[in-house]
Amino acid sequence: MSSAAAASSSASPVPPEDDVCSVCHDRFRIPCQANCSHWFCGECIIRVWNHGAAVQPCKCPICRRLINLLVPANVSDDQNDDPQLQRVLGEIQHYNHIFGGAPRSLTQVYTLFCHEKLASFISDT
Ligand SMILES: [Zn+2]
Ligand SMILES: [Zn+2]
Repeated sequence: MSSAAAASSSASPVPPEDDVCSVCHDRFRIPCQANCSHWFCGECIIRVWNHGAAVQPCKCPICRRLINLLVPANVSDDQNDDPQLQRVLGEIQHYNHIFGGAPRSLTQVYTLFCHEKLASFISDT
């Protein structure tokens, strides 16, 4: 249990230091890298997603590619019990679970129209 934090940090992605989030034009908060390699605040990209249909992945606001994976940057230990951080990381996990991982056709996702069905679908796996 004591060696859980031993993962090397050099492999973890970090946002460019002098860059800002293109959604809020501010410094990254809970930075997340999309599969197109662009960075956003976790909250911002989730908000972009929630702004559209929750049953389909959102498009990158910069390059318009569909986002099917969001990778949060390493969080330091003292941030780990921040409830807001936990909530955003949970949303990102949820997003990756729906749109990432197993390749699933968009039409299949469309059929899971309401959140209720979506939730049972998630707890099913
Ligand atoms: Zn932002
Ligand atoms: Zn992009």
